[in-house]
Amino acid sequence: MKYQSTRGGMAPLPFCDILLEGLAPDGGLTLPVALPALTPEMLESWRTLDYAELAARVLALFIDDIAPDTLQRLTRAAYAPDVFPRIAPVKPLAPGLSLLGLSEGPTLAFKDMAMQFLGQVFETVLAQRGQTLNILGATSGDTGSAAEYALRGKQGIAVFMLSPQGRMSAFQRAQMYSLQDANIHNIAIRGVFDECQDIVKALSGDLTFKSTYRLGAVNSINWARIAAQVVYYVWGWLRATKNAGDLVSFAVPSGNFGNILAGHIARQMGLPVRRLVLATNENNVLEEFFRTGVYRPRPASQTFATSSPSMDISRASNFERFLFDLVGRDPVRVKALMQELQQKGSFDLSALKPQFEDRYGFVAGSSTHADRLHTIRSVHQETGVLIDPHTADAVKVAREHLESGVPMLVLETALPAKFADTIVQAVGVDPEVPAPLRDLAQRPQRVTLMDCDARLVADYLRQHAL
Ligand SMILES: *Cc1c(COP(=O)(O)O)cnc(C)c1O
Repeated sequence: MKYQSTRGGMAPLPFCDILLEGLAPDGGLTLPVALPALTPEMLESWRTLDYAELAARVLALFIDDIAPDTLQRLTRAAYAPDVFPRIAPVKPLAPGLSLLGLSEGPTLAFKDMAMQFLGQVFETVLAQRGQTLNILGATSGDTGSAAEYALRGKQGIAVFMLSPQGRMSAFQRAQMYSLQDANIHNIAIRGVFDECQDIVKALSGDLTFKSTYRLGAVNSINWARIAAQVVYYVWGWLRATKNAGDLVSFAVPSGNFGNILAGHIARQMGLPVRRLVLATNENNVLEEFFRTGVYRPRPASQTFATSSPSMDISRASNFERFLFDLVGRDPVRVKALMQELQQKGSFDLSALKPQFEDRYGFVAGSSTHADRLHTIRSVHQETGVLIDPHTADAVKVAREHLESGVPMLVLETALPAKFADTIVQAVGVDPEVPAPLRDLAQRPQRVTLMDCDARLVADYLRQHAL
């Protein structure tokens, strides 16, 4: 299994060589040269596997330079009961409509599903190569905490996570800043998220600094995260069907297009998926693309702050991988479109629009704050189940695309406890906080406060990098 770039400028490399890199050297994203197949026989033989065993089988299709028994050890550790007390449960909401619970991990959001595997595989590959890695990132909430919980205490890795001071929820702050592991460094910047991101870009863009301090990233373009996400589409399909060939639809709250891209990959590999229902909030760049065929990302100044904040994204970092398939896996066309995007701020693929649904199964819809409140309330009234605002965006759009005879699984991307304000606004009661996190607010916090200046962050890295 070798990997190539969406823009064609990279000699094919094995998995372990792309694992620790971000973008491909030509600015593209990495993808398998040929996707492995999921055959009906394989799927049927996997029905009785537990999650960790299934993950080892699916990931082995993408990773042939790590021994299968090592891979099994990594997935056993990543998906152990002390990390995920329950793993990817299917929770029925109505006939033909269920949640796939992806938020049962340490940070109560779906990013744990992929990040826990990433932590395991990073540690193993770094040890094999005798290397160390300093992860430098910026977070407005979910990604940073999922990365820290996955990498805490890992050998050969340190994490430097910038967050905008005073701009995360108290719950999110407590989650990150209460970690006491020596390899986790929380840096609160006197600034906004975009300024944190600019510091990361400045330091990672300084190639001498980057190689001297062995800087790495764990953002959503990392292929290992996408591969680990393919697993739960297979798992969900196995839980929702009885026979080979039965179809399932998935509805996905989307921001960077990472989660639903894994669904697209699973479908391209042969998983019997009917529809991939993409849901956005008011930041509807992706919904607009699937409705019109025109892709027009927006600047930060035109991105709304909504009550499903993890989807407040107007430039979807993983979209280029889907684009690659859409234009017939032609890197020359991808490169031309990305150039056009840079020059004109948009590109128009409306000529391919019939394929979005007919060939790739994609449909899309968007949701507003009022829709979220209504959906949280109606699901709670009808079923007693509380859902988080992101999941509510997907339930709203999923309901518009239900088909009889085709089960719809809505990916639950966070638990309501993370977004108590919106839940209280919707139903008037506080969401339940899982037992292990009830004392979170009381735990001592460890964070370094810094002015918004890349040089200060660079100095800190010089002192503390591995
Ligand atoms: C990250 C995130 C999303 C968006 O997922 P993408 O892979 O970026 O599309 C949706 N909901 C929650 C709760 C998230 O944390």
